[in-house]
Amino acid sequence: MAKKDIEPTEFKNLDDTYIGKLEAAAFVYMHDLKKAGFHVDDDIDKDPQDATKGFFFRHMGWLLAYKPQTWGSVNISDLMEDPVVRWQQKNYLIIFVLGGLGLPTFIAHIGWNDWQGGLVYAGFLRVFLSLQVVFFSGALMHADWAGEKTYSDKNSSVNMSFISILNNGEGNHNFHHTFPSDYRNGVQWYNIDLSKWMILLWCQLGLARNPVTVTGFEIERARRRQERRNRHGGTVEYVDEDHEDLSTLPVMQWTEYIEQANTGRCLVCINGVIHDISDFMGEHPGGRDLLHQVLADDGTSAFYNGSHDHSSHAKNVLAGMRIAVLEGSPPTNPRG
Ligand SMILES: [Zn+2]
Repeated sequence: MAKKDIEPTEFKNLDDTYIGKLEAAAFVYMHDLKKAGFHVDDDIDKDPQDATKGFFFRHMGWLLAYKPQTWGSVNISDLMEDPVVRWQQKNYLIIFVLGGLGLPTFIAHIGWNDWQGGLVYAGFLRVFLSLQVVFFSGALMHADWAGEKTYSDKNSSVNMSFISILNNGEGNHNFHHTFPSDYRNGVQWYNIDLSKWMILLWCQLGLARNPVTVTGFEIERARRRQERRNRHGGTVEYVDEDHEDLSTLPVMQWTEYIEQANTGRCLVCINGVIHDISDFMGEHPGGRDLLHQVLADDGTSAFYNGSHDHSSHAKNVLAGMRIAVLEGSPPTNPRG
């Protein structure tokens, strides 16, 4: 992740993303991770943990074949505006040494006069095991054979609820990748999701606000859509038709579309349909900057052929923002 328009105290799901990995991964990689959109683009070279390269690659191979220059970059200026994130970034090494190794050593020394035990077991061994659990469960949750693609099969993620016990709630990973802006992984009240509960607690304490959620209706619709798709061997694409019929929408010429966009409305043309995405700019899981690149332009290729394969849910969200149908075809070089 590392990607979104996140106000410092506004939470979307940061699991499996820049911040989550930054905290978990070895600190020596921090400098490169901060520049990369970590695991934003799934299952391609730009994804540092590209699941198509196999289980071991996703577990630790990506660290051994460490090539941050091939990773996609994402503008994370929104995160870097947060003074706490900036402070952590600047002082990560000292925080790790003092908090991760020094503190357990100190406690073991004061408590039972065993600083070596504290350093080895509660320091180094704990860090080693924590990283192994993070890497292993991350690899498992992108292995086809390990779980269910409950909501979307547009990427390699699967749901494996019981893994949530090990990784603080990230087990329902297919949900996370289908609804990446939702702060939850385990959407049911009984799903183990420590991260969700912590964010809710922070909301109660006033430390976070506006946790983003997808409606239960959309979640159930995605589940049923995927169920139907599974029955047809994954060959049929279902997009619901409960949005405005194209024939009922006004027709707009390209010049009028550009004029409207120049008034400050966030308009994008996709597949010959004009969409007003003004209210969606801050909610795009891939970040606001990607949307800015296609405003007042033909975004068809970016939406369908970009690095991220949009789910049926995403297509329905887009369909809900239709405002007009384009007359004719977009110019071949709209901005030329
Ligand atoms: Zn993932």
